[in-house]
Amino acid sequence: MNNQEISKQLVCISLRNGIEIWLEEEKAENLKKILANSKESKFINIGKETINTADIVGIFTPQTMEDIIRRRSGQWKDKYGKWQDRGARPCPTCGRILPYGKTCGFCS
Ligand SMILES: [Zn+2]
Repeated sequence: MNNQEISKQLVCISLRNGIEIWLEEEKAENLKKILANSKESKFINIGKETINTADIVGIFTPQTMEDIIRRRSGQWKDKYGKWQDRGARPCPTCGRILPYGKTCGFCS
């Protein structure tokens, strides 16, 4: 990754109502400080939007957001960290991942 890509790294402010506000990581730094230092919720401006800090679930990397979307759609991570589809399961004998409803071709 070169410097330009790093400087354009985006993060996502995830809100309780499901809204996602994406902004450059650099710009989120200030928001992180506000969140860390404020004991009570307050309204803050992000670009053209005003949000209540109480509605912020968290500030996440694109990687984490992708994980959340995959889990929502029923995908899961196997023990090697590889994403598997909803309904897929490991073969009880050899551990190979089998699509939903299929039997293992190696063990049967
Ligand atoms: Zn098997």
